[in-house]
Amino acid sequence: METILRGGCMCDAVRYECPGDTENASYCHCDDCKKATGGPYTVGVLVKADDLRIICGQVKGYTSIADSGRKITRQFCPNCGSPLFTKAEKCPDFVFIKAGSLDEPELIKPSCQTWIKRAVPWAYIDEKLPCYPESSPS
Ligand SMILES: [Zn+2]
Ligand SMILES: [Zn+2]
Repeated sequence: METILRGGCMCDAVRYECPGDTENASYCHCDDCKKATGGPYTVGVLVKADDLRIICGQVKGYTSIADSGRKITRQFCPNCGSPLFTKAEKCPDFVFIKAGSLDEPELIKPSCQTWIKRAVPWAYIDEKLPCYPESSPS
């Protein structure tokens, strides 16, 4: 469903909005996503980088090298630390919005799971969704 995605960090210093598709979302079970979120996986909503509008506040970024050897930058609120966005060198025109930072995260319908070979046993895996052992082939 095409809609305007709105969200922000826990302390409300950073607020954003972006047109996006609620089904253009995926789970990632990679180890860096576990560390960066403190949870068993992250769910990212893929949007066009040009469409993302930061309404207030500024994000801070941390860049690491993904298993692919390419750079990934995870952005967060420097005040409260909430994870907000992920930018990958692999797809520079797109940004992943952390689904948990949305005002209405219940609207999101993830369409696949990536890095399931790194999934912990206590992460629920929906077998009906396409699952990739590593990153998605696209
Ligand atoms: Zn904050
Ligand atoms: Zn990941």
